Amino acid sequence: MDRRYDPHAIEQKWQRIWKERDAYRTPDESDRPKFYCLDFFPYPSGDGLSVGHCRNYVPSDAVARYKRMQGFNVLHPMGWDAFGLPAENYAIKMGVHPRETTRRNIATYRRQMEMIGLSFDWSREITSCEPDYYRWTQWFFLLLYERGLAYRATGQQWWCPSCRTILANEQVEQGRCWRCGSEVTKKDLEQWYFRITAYAQRLLDDLAAIDWPEQIKLMQTNWIGRSEGAEIDFEVPGQPQPLTVFTTRPDTLFGATYMVLAPEHPMVDAVTTPEQRAAVRAYQEQARRQSEIERLSTEKEKTGVFTGGYAVNPVNGARIPIWVGDYVLMGYGTGAIMAVPAHDERDFAFAQKYGLPVVEVIAPPQGPQGALREAYVGEGVLVNSGRFDGLAAPAPAGAAIVEWLAGEGRARATVNYKLRDWLVSRQRYWG
Ligand SMILES: [Zn+2]
Repeated sequence: MDRRYDPHAIEQKWQRIWKERDAYRTPDESDRPKFYCLDFFPYPSGDGLSVGHCRNYVPSDAVARYKRMQGFNVLHPMGWDAFGLPAENYAIKMGVHPRETTRRNIATYRRQMEMIGLSFDWSREITSCEPDYYRWTQWFFLLLYERGLAYRATGQQWWCPSCRTILANEQVEQGRCWRCGSEVTKKDLEQWYFRITAYAQRLLDDLAAIDWPEQIKLMQTNWIGRSEGAEIDFEVPGQPQPLTVFTTRPDTLFGATYMVLAPEHPMVDAVTTPEQRAAVRAYQEQARRQSEIERLSTEKEKTGVFTGGYAVNPVNGARIPIWVGDYVLMGYGTGAIMAVPAHDERDFAFAQKYGLPVVEVIAPPQGPQGALREAYVGEGVLVNSGRFDGLAAPAPAGAAIVEWLAGEGRARATVNYKLRDWLVSRQRYWG
């Protein structure tokens, strides 16, 4: 007997026999216990299978075979995640319809998967760009729509003025269009969203019930970003509507010495004075060219521009200036913040830079500091806070102030989540 392994002879022979016997078809009904071995469905690109694919599919195939030998009824399916931008680009490059190139690529992938002997049940193959599959994604979409969980709203998208097209985040390179190099801007466009925020609390609560690694659970928790706090109304003289902020630190309200609005906030125009209008417009324009990640970067120095307008601090009647700053985002909270420079590092730096007042309202255990050299972010007792002086902060002082304002209809205790609804429209030809 020849003891050398001859892959050509051995593999072809056994692959033929597996095929003839339909060895990996999984019956719907079986007395054996079930085992579901699901791989991720690859994106069928023009290059064929890579070593990276094999690194995923070979170990899971070994698991599927092991479980079959243990007597399980193993479901080990394969399919193709076949829509998307790469297929569109590949088709443009080759001058062929993406349907043709995608089908050709799938045939190559399937042939290569058979060559390396993966034990898939090909009778269950699915292809996301074929109607027999996407009729079900459409069915799901309609269910979501009927239940109010899929909806249209205006959202800001990157826009290339010379290509006259929307760009995905990854198609914008340093503020320029990847195709033509033009400077891109943000444009308000109607988009489809999934209302995942309706499930924010449930997503958080149910993390307790799953066996994910703690580190992943923590990432998920931070992504949902639950915070308890209050919405506070600041009257703006001459305006019918107050400016509402969300804060997790209502205990510091007496120290709020200015407000900052997101450049896109709907009240910016109304509060801006004629003298400040040109400066505010220019500031809004530069903010439109930045991504949210750039705007929130901790590396970046916080900037802003005075609107010329003032709001009234509801706890002490103080007249406080309203600024516009790009580090405030419209999509989080209310798009407006109250700034407490004495007790927030970012607000302190901003106040120093623009010469805004700093009012100490939380004294550390050793007593009030008077002139602060930096923000005091620790616990303490309230000072300069009227009848709330002496209360421990943040608790119970925060709740006491909210209760008082709530009684006058100027505050509401609320829970806020960082989680946003999921933008699902892509405006793709192939997808
Ligand atoms: Zn372009």
